Amino acid sequence: MISWDGESREFVLVVDARGTVTDRDPRTAAKLKLSPGESFLARAVPGTEQKLANFLERARKQPLTNVELSLTADGKAITCSFHAKPDGPDRVALLGSWLPEEYSRSLQQVQESMEEVANLNRRVVVQKTALEKTLSELEDSNKGITVLHQELEDKAEVLQRTAEVRSRVVANVSHEFRTPLHSILGLSRLMLDGIDGELNSEQRKQLQFIRTSAEELSAMVDDLLDLAAAEAGKVVMRPEKFLVSDFVSALRGTLRPLLPAGGAVDLVFVDPPPELQMETDQSKLGQVLRNLVSNALKFTERGTVEVSVDTRRDDVIFKVRDTGIGIAAEHFERIFEEFGQVDGAIQSRVKGTGLGLPLSRRLAELLGGVLTVESEVGKGSVFTVRVPRVHAEVRELSDLEARPLDPNLPQVLVVEDDRKTIFIYEKYLANAGFQVVPARSIADAERFLGQMQPAAILLDIMLDGESSWNFLARLKRDPATHDIPVLVVTVTNKEQKARALGADEFWLKPVDQDRLTRKLRALRAEEDARVLIIDDDDRARYLMTRFLENGPYELIEAGSGAAGIEAAREHRPNVILLDFVLQDMTAFDVLDELKSDPLTRPIPVIVVTSLDLDQQERDRLLQQTEVILSKESLSREIAIRRIRDALRKADVGSNRTNLLSS
Ligand code: ADP
Repeated sequence: MISWDGESREFVLVVDARGTVTDRDPRTAAKLKLSPGESFLARAVPGTEQKLANFLERARKQPLTNVELSLTADGKAITCSFHAKPDGPDRVALLGSWLPEEYSRSLQQVQESMEEVANLNRRVVVQKTALEKTLSELEDSNKGITVLHQELEDKAEVLQRTAEVRSRVVANVSHEFRTPLHSILGLSRLMLDGIDGELNSEQRKQLQFIRTSAEELSAMVDDLLDLAAAEAGKVVMRPEKFLVSDFVSALRGTLRPLLPAGGAVDLVFVDPPPELQMETDQSKLGQVLRNLVSNALKFTERGTVEVSVDTRRDDVIFKVRDTGIGIAAEHFERIFEEFGQVDGAIQSRVKGTGLGLPLSRRLAELLGGVLTVESEVGKGSVFTVRVPRVHAEVRELSDLEARPLDPNLPQVLVVEDDRKTIFIYEKYLANAGFQVVPARSIADAERFLGQMQPAAILLDIMLDGESSWNFLARLKRDPATHDIPVLVVTVTNKEQKARALGADEFWLKPVDQDRLTRKLRALRAEEDARVLIIDDDDRARYLMTRFLENGPYELIEAGSGAAGIEAAREHRPNVILLDFVLQDMTAFDVLDELKSDPLTRPIPVIVVTSLDLDQQERDRLLQQTEVILSKESLSREIAIRRIRDALRKADVGSNRTNLLSS
């Protein structure tokens, strides 16, 4: 019988292979109520039987310490810590120590908290699943929206195509009408002039009718063509500066002849403010006003037709007021539709095409303005054209031109005469972090180049491009500008010519935004590039720095292989120029060092050598470097070109890794 000190929390027992108690001390008897012949295994707290069995099993083979187990005694759970060791071939001696009750309680609390955590975890999992479901539903509806969007876009495209086809058909048909109409007009003129013999008065009258009809048809064809062009967006705005008073005088001159004889109608032009100046498309504005005045004269039998000019903020307002038959409010919209005419005695007497107002409204819109009507039947009408004093295109461009150069932004000189295209470039390039300096002519471009050093030049070669080609050739010849990359854009494929003259890039219009910004970003990376020159020959290093010192690079020099490796780690250059023959270590060693360090591994290396390398050396070098340059044939141009190539390649590579990791 084992005996034990009565105060201790410890107890001793021995169990056999089946977990039956073979011996025990009095404490075991008192605390666990276990006697020989009873099963120790049966005292495992439900659910932990296997754990206890495993413990006994292991303890038969090797001593174990500090194993915590929960046992039941008197229907209560107690937690004990056990040391155990083999005792003879099949038995295990156990030294147990029951843990104080607070400990057991905390343990229980911990267990409860663990359970709570587990419950919480389960709830989180449930919520996560719900969230995932919602997300996937969202994704589905998103897909639905995308599909709908695509459908809408397709419909819009179909509609646009239909509108284009319609405009094209109208334009073609109208053109087809023009030729025979001109023949009719010409021939009737000949006959009326009596060149081939006099006509009798009846014939003359008939011929006059033919001629008037042909003239009306011809006017209609002209209107149709204008409208088709305006709708197809083919109208080119030609804003120019003019005095409104001059414009009104010219209008008066062309409209006077339309005044009907008999003096029942007065045509009055109220003098505009004498200094009022506009900068917009004068001829389109004139077309709108002529149309309105001629309508007013057509539909006014007596009284006045008055043209007045007013300004409000940045707009100029022209009003054509008449005391004619007026228009009922329900026709206000109809008259602006194509062929929309109002029925009535006078309306059917005066001839018209029903195209004048729709065209006028479209033109007013193209000028950035609006055309509206107010009228009362029997009293007269007022047509109002309100247009910006300065056309938006002009304003935006002059804002762009007047903008000061931002010293923090690299500039791109855009040589392009079309305003719209300039704005497109402006949008693209601002996104890429560049400031656009617009030059609308070669002369402007040359003037700007005297004042700034752009990061790149975007040169649009116009159709008659001789002067643009000459400009490109001059840029590349002049030492002050020949390093500025020039991106040539044309509408026709002239890549060979562009490259021959030194263009760095050649693109066909329309330029793809992504490509343009990618290209310019690469150039920008080049701007701040650091170039490390590793060469232990002072003269060679001096020569190389002279080649590169006025270029866009920051130069770092190292006079030995070891110094070069250190400088590469410290400054992380964007390109390394490495001399093949060094005193302290071979170029291969330097390369091995650089390529084994993740910090310096991605830096492109250009090897410079005056030696004739054998094929094996070459192959080995080219595996780790960009290119091998020979010192003999080295020039500034070649060095810069090679550095650029290496930088671009590295940039493309880094873009790719960014894409992959994002
Ligand atoms: P057209 O005058 O060639 O018929 P428009 O598009 O210029 O075509 O005008 C459409 C219609 O609007 C005219 O046929 C006429 O019914 C009405 N209209 C236009 N101007 C006036 C006016 N000043 N007074 C009354 N009716 C007018």
